[in-house]
Amino acid sequence: MLAPADPGNLPGMPRIFSGIQPSGELHIGNWLGAVQNWVNLQHSYDCIFCVVDLHAITSKYDHTTLAARTREMATGLLACGIDPARSLLFVQSHVPEHSELQWLLNTVTPIGELERMTQFKDKSQRFESVPAGLLNYPVLMTADILLYRADVVPVGEDQTQHLELAREVARRWNAEFADGEGFFPEPAPLLTEAKRIMGLDGQAKMSKSLNNTIGLLDSPEEIWQKLRPAKTDPARVTRKDPGNPEVCNIYHLHKYFSPPATIAEVAEKCRGAGWGCLDCKRVLADNMIRALAPIRERALALQEQPERVDEILADGAAAARRIASETVREVRDRMGFLPRPRGVAVPS
Ligand code: ATP
Ligand code: MG
Repeated sequence: MLAPADPGNLPGMPRIFSGIQPSGELHIGNWLGAVQNWVNLQHSYDCIFCVVDLHAITSKYDHTTLAARTREMATGLLACGIDPARSLLFVQSHVPEHSELQWLLNTVTPIGELERMTQFKDKSQRFESVPAGLLNYPVLMTADILLYRADVVPVGEDQTQHLELAREVARRWNAEFADGEGFFPEPAPLLTEAKRIMGLDGQAKMSKSLNNTIGLLDSPEEIWQKLRPAKTDPARVTRKDPGNPEVCNIYHLHKYFSPPATIAEVAEKCRGAGWGCLDCKRVLADNMIRALAPIRERALALQEQPERVDEILADGAAAARRIASETVREVRDRMGFLPRPRGVAVPS
């Protein structure tokens, strides 16, 4: 195996940081909105990617499966084409500086800003008693990014509000502790065309935690079983009713999986009731299955070698930690803490 890239060795290249929660299956929304972009950007950026398990515990989760899900998510990312020879890939909780920097940044983050985050408003409705961790989720995300002083964060649209907050926190910390100079760069979002893929329920964005997904590693049969009952244009009550493709999620998914001639045919056959919705879904399923087959094959092969995945994650965490511990050392210094005695400077 090739040694992991050390971002410290790539001077001048802008740095990317992005993360994904092991809160469920890696789905086509994650792939089209973020991960596919990560894979492409590896050639032009110094890339750091993270399975953010500390974020995943801010929602209800099963502690008996968290470890397996974390490894599965890493396996999925490698199968998508994250290349450990080019990028760092690691697990957030393996680098304790994420939690440490989050605490330090909590002290410059206004509560009012956290309370107005859309994701907080949505997800807090799932709790009778809302955990403070859910409110502070965007501060941890800010710490993730600032720890590596990343310039760019490739994400879906749902995360742009959190990134605005990250920029605000970076500015406030810089003003307070770095004489206004840009110790922390203000991270910019990088969106794909597919910045918000809707779920199969047609109600909300596709989300791991909403059970409205198509898994990137689903079998051909599973893909079909999930697509079959998916919401389409409600005007198409019977096969003979003409529809409007613009309001149909299936049509929008065709745009990412079908060739241009098919996309045009789908629109025409929907408007003219030439196809039933099931016909249209079958064509989509076939194209989706074809597009995802190589990723699924690579994932199945990697699932046979969990020790290889663990080794990649261990190398990634070690390299990430070299950067993270240096940032936290400087942050502690600027915030005025008594320096740690030698020997406990980098706890493990
Ligand atoms: P959860 O429901 O647990 O929040 P999720 O499906 O939203 O899970 P995250 O781990 O929160 O996934 O996000 C991983 C990345 O995928 C982020 O960059 C996010 O912006 C992007 N993403 C998530 N859902 C979508 C979607 N429906 N369309 C486009 N991008 C998405
Ligand atoms: Mg999410």
